[in-house]
Amino acid sequence: KVLVTIRDKEFELFISEDEILAEVAAMGKQLSSDYRGKEVVFVAMLNGAFMFAADLMKKISIPCTISFIKVSSYEGESSTGKITELIGINEDLSGKHIVLVEDIVDTGMTIESILPKLEKAGAASVSICTLLFKPEAFKGTHHPEHIGFSIPNRFVVGYGLDYDGYGRNLNAIYQLKKED
Ligand code: 5GP
Repeated sequence: KVLVTIRDKEFELFISEDEILAEVAAMGKQLSSDYRGKEVVFVAMLNGAFMFAADLMKKISIPCTISFIKVSSYEGESSTGKITELIGINEDLSGKHIVLVEDIVDTGMTIESILPKLEKAGAASVSICTLLFKPEAFKGTHHPEHIGFSIPNRFVVGYGLDYDGYGRNLNAIYQLKKED
């Protein structure tokens, strides 16, 4: 489908399922070679990264574990930057190489608030793997190491990303249609 309506808004197809899966496979291959021989823990951010994380993990060919964390930081259409809490890390991360798996890095504030917590847990290294990156919105200090697609500063949904809780089930990524 080229157009979808979610709640009160219209979205148009932006990145197809085939394009996403090809990129995810390439990212998995790259990570598998970068982390060969290392103790790697993938830490995926709920809710948005659940679909990306699932597809990415199927393309990882080295021994690894995966954990899920959750923060609440976002309401409606634009980032509020308010980080309330981080839940879900209850394993020993000391000496482990962490790959933080994100659906999208926008301002970078979410990462900024999580990184110190992961570093405090004694991780040997932390790198960021994000499916989507909005360079124009980014004002963080830790640039993601692994990026699927750099995209314009417009609101997107689908493939795990939501609008008001809806749209996560879409198999492709859709962009908010410009008003005309
Ligand atoms: P940041 O902290 O980098 O500004 O924002 C990260 C979070 O904002 C993402 O995990 C995501 O929940 C939300 N976000 C940022 N841009 C978008 C977008 O275009 N669409 C959706 N659905 N969420 C977004």
